[in-house]
Amino acid sequence: MSSTSEHGREKQDAAFKAAQVSVLLNAALMTMQIVIGWLAYSDGLLADGVHTLADLAADGMVLAVLRLSATAVHRSARDSCDRYETIGSLLISFLLIATGMETLWSSLGHVANEANASSVHASALVVAVFVIVAKEALFRYIMSVAKRTRSTILVASAWHARSDAISALIAAVGILGSMAGLAISDRLAAAVIGIMIARMGFNLGRKAFKDSFDRPASETAGQ
Ligand SMILES: [Zn+2]
Repeated sequence: MSSTSEHGREKQDAAFKAAQVSVLLNAALMTMQIVIGWLAYSDGLLADGVHTLADLAADGMVLAVLRLSATAVHRSARDSCDRYETIGSLLISFLLIATGMETLWSSLGHVANEANASSVHASALVVAVFVIVAKEALFRYIMSVAKRTRSTILVASAWHARSDAISALIAAVGILGSMAGLAISDRLAAAVIGIMIARMGFNLGRKAFKDSFDRPASETAGQ
C-alpha cells in the first residue's frame, strides 16, 4: 500500500515537472514572439505570440488540475476535481475563441489595408523557426512523461504542443512569403493562426461539455 502511494507520488512529481517546463518555455517563447513580431512588423509572429499567451493560461490550468488531483487522491473528492477541470476547460475555451476571432479580425483588417504594408524583417523568421523546434521538442518531452505517468491531461497537453509547432510553421511560411515580396502572405498567416486558435477553443469547449454529460452525476457531498 505505501509503496504504491510512493510510486504515485513519483509520477505526480514527474507530471508537475513537465507542466512547469511547459510554463517556463511558453513564457520565454511568448516574450520573444511578441517583442520580435512587433519590431519586425510580422502579424503572423504576433498572432502566434498571442496564441502562446493563451497557451500559458492553458498550462496554468493543467498545473491546477494536477495539484487538485494530487490532493484529492486520498479523499473521495475525485468528482469535485473533475468539475474544476470542466470549469477550467470551459473558461480557457471561451478565452481561445475570443482570442482567435480577434486575431482573425485584426489580420483581415490589415489584409484589406494593403497601403501601409511593410515587409517583414528576417529576425521574425529566426524566431518562428526557433519556436517550431522548441514546440516539437516540448511535444516529445511531454509525451514521454505522459506515457510514463499515464496522465491523460498531459497527453492532451503534448498534442497541443505539436499543434503549436504547426501554427509556428504557418507563421514561418507567411514570413518567408513576405520577405520574398508578397506582403499579404504574413497577414494571411495571421488570419489562419487566428482560425486555428478559435478552433482549438471550440474543440476544448465541446470536449468539456461532452465529458461533463458522459460522467455519471454521483452525489458525493464534499465536506
Ligand atoms: Zn497552443
